[in-house]
Amino acid sequence: MIIHWADVIAEKLLEKRKEHRIATGISPSGHIHLGNLREMMTADAVRRAVLDADGSAEIIYIGDTFDPLRRRYPFLPERYEEYIGIPLSEIPDPEGCHESYSEHFLTPFLESLDVLGIDVMVERADLMYKNGRYVNEIKTALDKRREIARIMEEITGRELEEDWYPFMPFCSECKRINSAKVTGYDEKWIYYRCSCGYEGKASYSGGGKLSWRVDWAARWKILNITCEPFGKDHAAAGGSYDTGVRLAREIFGIEPPFPIVYEWIHLKGIGAMKSSKGIVVPVKDLVDALPPEIVRYIIIRSKPEKHIEFDPSALLDTINEFEDAFKEGDRSARLSIVSDVEYSDVPFRHIIVVGQIANWDVEEVLEILARTGYEISESVRRDVMRKIDFARKWLEHYAPERLKFEIIEDTPVVENGEKKFLKTFSEFLNEEMSAEEIHRLVYDVANDVGMKPNKAFKTIYRVILGKSYGPRIGYFLKSLGADWVKRRFQKVYEAN
Ligand SMILES: [Zn+2]
Ligand SMILES: [Zn+2]
Repeated sequence: MIIHWADVIAEKLLEKRKEHRIATGISPSGHIHLGNLREMMTADAVRRAVLDADGSAEIIYIGDTFDPLRRRYPFLPERYEEYIGIPLSEIPDPEGCHESYSEHFLTPFLESLDVLGIDVMVERADLMYKNGRYVNEIKTALDKRREIARIMEEITGRELEEDWYPFMPFCSECKRINSAKVTGYDEKWIYYRCSCGYEGKASYSGGGKLSWRVDWAARWKILNITCEPFGKDHAAAGGSYDTGVRLAREIFGIEPPFPIVYEWIHLKGIGAMKSSKGIVVPVKDLVDALPPEIVRYIIIRSKPEKHIEFDPSALLDTINEFEDAFKEGDRSARLSIVSDVEYSDVPFRHIIVVGQIANWDVEEVLEILARTGYEISESVRRDVMRKIDFARKWLEHYAPERLKFEIIEDTPVVENGEKKFLKTFSEFLNEEMSAEEIHRLVYDVANDVGMKPNKAFKTIYRVILGKSYGPRIGYFLKSLGADWVKRRFQKVYEAN
């Protein structure tokens, strides 16, 4: 039996210790997208695998709110040019609805995590600094700056200036966090000179931040991190994780966390998702239109080291695959389930058909489902109601045109052969027939009247939907009801 990747990692973690803290971190500089979600989902799959193996684990999510705005992204108004270099937590919300720039992007993401059943302890980097949680590590880093510089040079091969300090002061004059240089420090203050001309002193609590690679290792210590998933860019030889490992051991005196390196998610036909390039599917949009178990499954079914090709137009295949996998007790499907949801055996693809037939009326949908053989218990009812909402939004935003349909009012013109087919078909069709039997009947009647089955299908679709294609015929006609179909066909062959 193949062991699921999350269980393999959990086993390795539990060999070291029983309690784990998994770190995740994303810079809220733009819409947090499906690509970023891989980090969260990887962490959550591992957390659940650790719990299943009788360990304990929690996820810490660190919003990099103290990072500077690096450039004016395409979605920002021109006036945001002046905020470049200022920490995200100190910049106004571009849409004016939240306290800051970073909260504007963090809030919907955290709400989505909740919907996806990913339980996290949230830390905001700016508050960690402002509340003094970094004080000891900043002092250590300043005192050991020569050793840090040597490690960085050895690993990256890049030489650092003689007067380099691993600290980025927050200039109290121009508010930038990436333009001042440290000139010295004492017990109480860190002194700096900024390129804006200002000279000042920064506090150890919120007066600036450690430079990125050092910050990462310091964070492992402050938050007792034992495991961390990160993108492959950090994992390259000479990259930030290699540096982090040495800084953790040699500067901060801790063991680095167990690394889980994950690959990118590509948007099919477009490329890797990067918020800086505007190639994103915001997590919020996905979570609104798809059941959470599907969003989870898209990521959890692939090993972290495998890249994912996300194809929004093939989502229904993914949903079908999930439903089959769930029935078979597949581990990825189990790990994708959000705990308080009860799953029924009504497939999503049926809800898409029935929902459109019933014009999304819940009671009518349930009635049709009952007629097509589903037992509607209280829990099935809840699950169907939940799925109807998603199916409707999914059809609106992601479904290919060929899956959308509307029942036509007018009576189309048919030729004699078609008339004969519709009449004969109506004679045999009855309410007791199953979807499969109805499907077979199309073939049988077509043969009897000397029509190609393909043409018979097209005729049925044209008479009901006004186009030459539609949902799988058996379940479609069964959902419409034999009596309804017979009345419809009768109307057509009598009018012609
Ligand atoms: Zn806002
Ligand atoms: Zn300045």
